[in-house]
Amino acid sequence: MKCNATLTDSRKGVTYTCELGATHYDRDIQPDFDAPLESRNPGGWHKRGTEVWADHAHGATPHEPEAVSADVLPGYKASIRFGSQSGPNLDWESPYEITIVGPAAFVARVVASVADAFEEDAQR
Ligand SMILES: [Zn+2]
Repeated sequence: MKCNATLTDSRKGVTYTCELGATHYDRDIQPDFDAPLESRNPGGWHKRGTEVWADHAHGATPHEPEAVSADVLPGYKASIRFGSQSGPNLDWESPYEITIVGPAAFVARVVASVADAFEEDAQR
């Protein structure tokens, strides 16, 4: 995910969008102002081409770091262990157990499939 900070240069009538990755911004790491424009290290500041700016610059729209976490799907986990209720202890019988980890829809789909398969097997 990209940084979404922008800088509007009203003299040129241009808006730049930062080309760096999300969460890169750190106001305290200053750009290498002594280097030539073309090879300037932006430090923790925003960058687009040869433009380098900070959130407090005139015409700047700050980045939104909280949008980063929305990109990550929450993880869910399900464990299914099955066997006869009156049978031997499942701990020493060969384990009929699966653990699924992933997004909620994926976990739900696997659990439903396993339940269907088990139900078919139990009816034999
Ligand atoms: Zn940026």
